Amino acid sequence: MAEDYQLETLAVRAGIERSQFGEHSEALYLTSSFVFKSAAQAAARFSNQEPGNIYSRFTNPTVSVFEQRLAALEGAECCVATSSGMAAILACVMGLLKSGDHIVCSAGVFGATVQLLGNIMKRFGVDTTFVSGTEIAKWQTALTPRTRLLYLETPSNPLTEVYDIAALAAVAKKAGALLVVDNVFATPVLQRPLELGADIVIHSATKYLDGQGRTLGGAVLGKREVIYEGVFGFLRTAGPTLSPFNAWVILKGLETLRIRVEAQSASALQLARWLEKQSQIERVYYPGLPSHPQYELARRQQKGPGAIVSFDVKGGKEGAWRVVDATRLLSITANLGDTKSTITHPASTTHGRITPEARAAAGIGDGLLRIAVGLEAVQDIQADLARGLGA
Ligand SMILES: *Cc1c(COP(=O)(O)O)cnc(C)c1O
Repeated sequence: MAEDYQLETLAVRAGIERSQFGEHSEALYLTSSFVFKSAAQAAARFSNQEPGNIYSRFTNPTVSVFEQRLAALEGAECCVATSSGMAAILACVMGLLKSGDHIVCSAGVFGATVQLLGNIMKRFGVDTTFVSGTEIAKWQTALTPRTRLLYLETPSNPLTEVYDIAALAAVAKKAGALLVVDNVFATPVLQRPLELGADIVIHSATKYLDGQGRTLGGAVLGKREVIYEGVFGFLRTAGPTLSPFNAWVILKGLETLRIRVEAQSASALQLARWLEKQSQIERVYYPGLPSHPQYELARRQQKGPGAIVSFDVKGGKEGAWRVVDATRLLSITANLGDTKSTITHPASTTHGRITPEARAAAGIGDGLLRIAVGLEAVQDIQADLARGLGA
């Protein structure tokens, strides 16, 4: 599709390929395999002499529409869809690395990413060094001659730290490594890492891309030679591909991505400003507040601060649990990116399995709460929190 269209146009139009029936909405192709006209055509497809679908573990027309649409939104040459966000990260490292390779990763990444890179990949001879993402010098010091990937998430979970993508892209380039950015929190509506110099973008489509908490999905995006040769090569053989049904659900989610993310980000800013004024709250972590340490960088790098707000409640775990348990509206669940606002106590859930020392080092206190702001009225969310804050 002509790339001079704006993001909102691409979100509803990119990738459509109509069947002979001329359907308006994107067709859902629930089929595991595809039929050939002849033995010769089958052979041509299998030998790559003729483009086309063979089997849905490799490609599927509904999945392809999702891939092309997300590629258009991220400004990527190529996109491959995966069964979940973790499958996207797995496909990225399994497709691009080999035993003996090294990864430098920001410490503030999704818990399962820490497990995957720090423990599972280590068993296959791929070592990961975790560094404080905000300090460029720490990344530089961690580099070794075998470093192949720099990996980060920005804004980070749950403290919303913002890392300098352009500066780290320069570090990666100099080291002959690829920069991978997990763009789940910002989405292409607020941040396009490839334009800032990143080589690969990772998505958990489970979050904002679906946006309504219905399915799992993921994607890896970047240059064709990296994504098609490396990542897709692993994926089509190993199998964690996206199902056509889930691709269809997420594809329809993309159509409303911009209005959801902009509205949720605007509500989050309002909520963060209100939280900062509450006496029971020690500190608010939100890139849209001037008190945030990377406020200026976030303004430069992102079109908006995003919909995740974290804050420290006075009174540690008891204070935080009191707020959680007093809610009637917010959902107590670890998911995020939904139209329904969610509240999580990271120290006892998403980050509950790491040692208290490691938690403290990561800045995740016992009083910390994370809210993923949905589409409800901000005043209703405030009233829900005010009860537990004893306001
Ligand atoms: C949820 C999430 C993932 C993993 O995605 P799944 O779809 O749950 O596998 C990766 N990164 C971030 C930032 C996430 O929030």
